[in-house]
Amino acid sequence: MMKLTAQKERAHFAKAGAEEDAQEPSTSSIRFEPISEESIHQLKRFLPTPKGYWSDVDDKNWNDWRWQLKSRVASLKDLEGKWNLTPDETHGAELANSKLAMAVTPYFFNLIDPNDPGCPIRRQMAPNVQEMNTAPWELSDPCGEDSYSPTPGLVHRYPDRVLFLVTDRCAAYCRYCTRSRLVSNATGYDFKPDFERQLDYIRKTPSVRDVLLSGGDPLLLSNGKLEELLRALRDIPHVEFIRIGSRIPIFLPQRITDDLCAMLSQFHPLFISVHCNHPSELTQESRAGLERLANAGIPLGNQSVLLRGVNDHPDVMKALLHKLLMCRVKPYYIYQCDLIAGSAHLRTSVRRGIEIMRQLRGYTTGYALPQYVIDAPGGGGKIPVNPDYVLEHNSERVVLRNYEGRIFEYPEAPWDQDTDTPVWD
Ligand code: SF4
Repeated sequence: MMKLTAQKERAHFAKAGAEEDAQEPSTSSIRFEPISEESIHQLKRFLPTPKGYWSDVDDKNWNDWRWQLKSRVASLKDLEGKWNLTPDETHGAELANSKLAMAVTPYFFNLIDPNDPGCPIRRQMAPNVQEMNTAPWELSDPCGEDSYSPTPGLVHRYPDRVLFLVTDRCAAYCRYCTRSRLVSNATGYDFKPDFERQLDYIRKTPSVRDVLLSGGDPLLLSNGKLEELLRALRDIPHVEFIRIGSRIPIFLPQRITDDLCAMLSQFHPLFISVHCNHPSELTQESRAGLERLANAGIPLGNQSVLLRGVNDHPDVMKALLHKLLMCRVKPYYIYQCDLIAGSAHLRTSVRRGIEIMRQLRGYTTGYALPQYVIDAPGGGGKIPVNPDYVLEHNSERVVLRNYEGRIFEYPEAPWDQDTDTPVWD
């Protein structure tokens, strides 16, 4: 990019200052609570997770993912005596089974502060009676997936890729889940994938070159079942690329066994998108699980959901992004929380999201930066949302604002209409 000379720069600053005033992002009024350097330092540590409430369980069971699943905290009775419950949480837990089941693995449960209802992990896991409040604009299927489903369990919304839902089960349930209409089957959705029909659609649709396995959590399938499915997908010549979306490395890192990694490594190119929202979710155990996947040659990306009181602060988000890179995970998306029914208490504003992005770009490693997106309600797909870096763009120039707020100009290429190519003097 052309950098302006000092004189020109001053002129541009003076002129563009007026433009900047006129176009100052409306986010600038947002003030974030200061967080001490010591707190950020603590957040960035990879701590081992103690057995906590399960201190009498032997290591063999504790490190067994099946034991973790069997021993999940899944009812109000399980919570009592462990947490100081608020009335909203108590009522939420009573009602959870009519909306989205509650379940938390013992490993992940031990990351939660029993005395602080504002604990960022607890806010994601604890049912809350506020989930029963549905605003008029909230939806049970906020991304309109069901209307893009050519066969049960398959969503074909974009031209060259499909979402392949494999199960309605997860190791733990996130209270803001976009698919809470079907995940855990608390609402009686009765999700019944039919892998043969789903595969058949892909076989007959040559435009599908990318398949994302999701759910529910595909890594809850047995190794054998998952291998069968991956092999069937790999046998389809036009499927170039397979992805798995999973929160297992975060909820249940014990599931990332050497056997699982060896099996997955047969199906490259295979990518995994994990879902991690807060730096405290990255422990010694989850880091080791992610490293096992990375060592199996699987590129890892992360998708976070922007959540109020969880990660809607630039310093917390930055700590998360830095820790992800240390775990060899590339931050991929930050989602504005979908308009899922009963999630208003967990949503934050788009203004806040844009300001967080503005405080990241330029201030930290480019590799750490995810794309902030809104999955448009009703099935519009993911739309990037960015601070305003392009202030003006016409046939002669592009006026740009850098991360410090300084203004630069880049000349637009004169265009030869006849040859459809740029013409430089
Ligand atoms: S892990 Fe994913 S699919 Fe499962 S409850 Fe959480 S957001 Fe929903």
